[in-house]
Amino acid sequence: MNKAESERLGSYLEELGYQATPRAEKADLVVLNSCVVRQGAENRVLNKLNALKPLKRLRPDLTLAVTGCLVNSRIDQLKQVFPHVDHFFKPGELPPWLERDNPEPALPRHPKVSTFVPIIQGCNNFCTYCIVPYRRGRERSRPLQEIVREVEELVRRGTREVTLLGQNVDSYGHDLPDRPDLAHLLKELDAINGLLRIRFLTNHPKDMSHGLIDTVASLDKVCEQICLPVQAGSNEVLKAMRRGYTVEHYLALTSEIKSKIPEIGLSTDIVVGFPSESEAQFQETLDLLAGVRFDTVHAAAYSPRPGTIASRKFADDIPPAEKKEHLDRLEQLQERIATEINARLRDKMVEVLVEGKKGDKWQGRTRSGKLVFFPGDGGYPGKLIKVRIEKTSPWSLQGTAK
Ligand code: SAH
Ligand code: SF4
Repeated sequence: MNKAESERLGSYLEELGYQATPRAEKADLVVLNSCVVRQGAENRVLNKLNALKPLKRLRPDLTLAVTGCLVNSRIDQLKQVFPHVDHFFKPGELPPWLERDNPEPALPRHPKVSTFVPIIQGCNNFCTYCIVPYRRGRERSRPLQEIVREVEELVRRGTREVTLLGQNVDSYGHDLPDRPDLAHLLKELDAINGLLRIRFLTNHPKDMSHGLIDTVASLDKVCEQICLPVQAGSNEVLKAMRRGYTVEHYLALTSEIKSKIPEIGLSTDIVVGFPSESEAQFQETLDLLAGVRFDTVHAAAYSPRPGTIASRKFADDIPPAEKKEHLDRLEQLQERIATEINARLRDKMVEVLVEGKKGDKWQGRTRSGKLVFFPGDGGYPGKLIKVRIEKTSPWSLQGTAK
């Protein structure tokens, strides 16, 4: 979401006549798009903000702005703490001091082959560890026809794949007058000529419907990729997190997905070291990973976020060394699983949508979302290419174009 919003902001500024520069020293305007989902991310923004102080002193004409989830509702207080910042604006908004005649959302003039498209902002869930609903507010869906028109325009300008974004794409549409859902939106987008692939993230295990799984299985352009964050493998921990589902429900959902969409690339998010998580409860998370066998797992150590329910109700009582040890064990297990899953693709043909070059190789993804590199001459970006896989690792595949 943060990356998508940075791209949009960049396009908006380009439309106003700004040009990107790689160095803050040369810029007239610096906008920091912050993430505060964990303390580590917040520290990076704060360090960057401090590092910009001398430059701002040297060049008072430089405009320094901050957006993203660091920006809470008390902008007055932020201005006191960071007097060298000229403007603060909320995540997902455009710079309010830079006016533009056309109020339509900014679109990249030369969009990437694969472009992010936000479809629902905010979150209504209040998982106890999570700061997102406090900083991004309640759910607001974009009208279905507005999204369809935007994707048509992106395709006209060169996009071939869209990834629909939301904190919980399963609640798309519930707040709109005719209550469309994600399946409706996918059907409409599937009919757009020139669009080759559609992805979406993130799903929520308590809300993902059978109908959506059937829709993914039946629509040609919708890729076999689902990100379904489980967060923990213990029912007690899930309850303390207020996730709204049980391990049994989650396992039933993933086995339905796997049986209806055999080629699925499945990923998940895990929080380790949630307050009072025991060794046995952590072991349940490892058991779940070993049972489901995800293609990708994003794991993070619990980080108390001021204002969240967990930070008020529970002590952050798992020592950092234990969180680290659990993260390491989890990552070792997952590396073994991903090695095995990817090794099965050796000598197989996969279809790759080529996105660009990385070093001297072309780079793209399979329908299931796996990164593929292959050598070759020009002309590939935006095309579907058949690649025979020769080498695999837990993180990517290498092969030769047919
Ligand atoms: N809406 C998505 C993701 C939201 S934030 C969902 O429901 O899963 C992205 C990921 O950051 C989460 O999945 C979670 O694993 C992690 N995360 C969020 N808050 C965290 C915290 N306080 N400490 C550690 N990880 C956190
Ligand atoms: Fe955060 Fe939970 Fe909402 Fe995801 S669903 S953004 S984890 S509150």
